[in-house]
Amino acid sequence: MEFNSADIQAFRDIWVFCEQREGKLSDTDFELISEGRKLADERGARLVGVVLGWNLGDEVRELGGYGADEVIVCDHPLLEVYTTDAYAKVLCDVVMEEKPEVLLIGASHIGRDLGPRCAARLHTGLTADCTHLDIDMGCYRKFLEESSTLDLAAVKMDMEDKNLKMTRPAFGGHLMATIICPRFRPCMSTVRPGVMKKAAYSAEMAERCEIRRVPVELSDGDLKTRVTEVVKAARKMVDLIGADIIVSVGRGISRDVEKGIALAEELAQILGGGVVGGSRAVIDAGWLSADHQIGQTGKTVHPRLYVALGISGAIQHKAGMQDSELIIAVDQNDGAPIFEVADYGICGDLFEVVPLMIEEIKGV
Ligand code: FAD
Repeated sequence: MEFNSADIQAFRDIWVFCEQREGKLSDTDFELISEGRKLADERGARLVGVVLGWNLGDEVRELGGYGADEVIVCDHPLLEVYTTDAYAKVLCDVVMEEKPEVLLIGASHIGRDLGPRCAARLHTGLTADCTHLDIDMGCYRKFLEESSTLDLAAVKMDMEDKNLKMTRPAFGGHLMATIICPRFRPCMSTVRPGVMKKAAYSAEMAERCEIRRVPVELSDGDLKTRVTEVVKAARKMVDLIGADIIVSVGRGISRDVEKGIALAEELAQILGGGVVGGSRAVIDAGWLSADHQIGQTGKTVHPRLYVALGISGAIQHKAGMQDSELIIAVDQNDGAPIFEVADYGICGDLFEVVPLMIEEIKGV
């Protein structure tokens, strides 16, 4: 639904859909709330977290500690387990009732499913997988001034409206696209987990945060699917996003995959409880499971230390790790692009270099 300028003025506040599992909020929620706080301050708007679930208690107040002014709680037995139908209906109902200007959703498995469904229902646009958000007036004005085909008078009000500027990688990560949504509301965006920085928690702010429970209209008839059982993965997923130290392997381990992974694991351990990650080449080959993948279509990480072993440094890989505090790369090709982002580079065969590194660290 396209809105005119007067309609658009009716949309206010920055909202973050916050995902909970068994009542527990996630780090992605806190990252998005922290980012939302900055946007809300720039926009002069309120920041609202929205939580859907069943038997939700006062734990949602934690969102206030990262900057939410208010938390809206939608509590209903049919929201106990995530289903697209139930969550999309309830979230859209509350959005249509309260009219937020911006709706941010974490690009988790659930967020990637829920975001587009809600955008379609709300007849608005969605920028998927954003890595940067900003409030900006200038970019739309510049776009209009440079365009000779648009009627400037007709869109004057829009020009004066501050827009959310959403940035995401495009064309396989070869360029960054900046997208605005000037004529539709809410501006919707899914945001990559691990990209936004979590603010320091404030118990005082959490105390001040308002919790508001809203009525939920939902019945079995609204659901096309029903979850009969939730089976938890027997294997624990690797926590790359929260890791301080990551040792990643690439196709360079192909000569002896088992040994290459064992060396990476030993190095990660000896460096102080690090975890192992991998390039997409390693995941595609089935040498490590998909939760280990780092990069544009994997996870975005910024550990204190990132060690890349036999990874060439394709742009899609660098997109997920180049903000690490310290990067050490080992590659036998001295022209490998990974050395462009490395603080320390070792040119050599990883099967010779890594045992030497381990020996050296053990001796310290
Ligand atoms: P290669 O590029 O083959 O590099 C292997 C490196 O190992 C080389 O530099 C070589 O010199 C070195 N080497 C070989 N043997 C040794 C040895 N014994 N000792 C030391 N060094 C050695 N990639 C990702 O990683 N993550 C993503 O999320 C991702 N998303 C993508 C999304 C799209 C849309 C596309 C098109 C691609 C994506 N890719 C992604 C793939 C990416 O373009 C690269 O193909 C991939 O990162 C290459 O992995 P690699 O560096 O392990 O392998």
